[in-house]
Amino acid sequence: MSDSLFTRIIRREIPADIVYEDEHVVGFRDINPQAPVHVLFVPRTPIATLNDLGEEHAELVGRLVLAAAAYARREGFAERGYRTVFNCNEDAGQSVFHIHLHLLAGRRLGWPPG
Ligand code: AMP
Repeated sequence: MSDSLFTRIIRREIPADIVYEDEHVVGFRDINPQAPVHVLFVPRTPIATLNDLGEEHAELVGRLVLAAAAYARREGFAERGYRTVFNCNEDAGQSVFHIHLHLLAGRRLGWPPG
């Protein structure tokens, strides 16, 4: 299978505004932001969808959430609030098949989402 778009961003083969990095996770700004802050947190290990997760990925998924929370604290909007979302497959509108946690912040977010 060819490398995912996000793998190519992680490898710096495609430009992106990378705002967070650690050993396991890379965060970069969404190209089509849905809020003043919209960052995607992506594991360096490519996994297509949440349906492909196994027990062995439990720590990695936790690291995505921890990365988003650390970024929110670092950028100063943690107390005000933010939303995190994983889209899985067609009904959720997943368009890039390399799991990613959306972090949205900087405005009042409606609920339920569309
Ligand atoms: P999803 O619909 O949950 O799969 O989310 C994929 C997200 O990736 C969308 O919000 C897109 O706007 C975003 N996206 C697509 N291409 C790029 C890119 N080259 N750089 C940054 N974000 C992107």
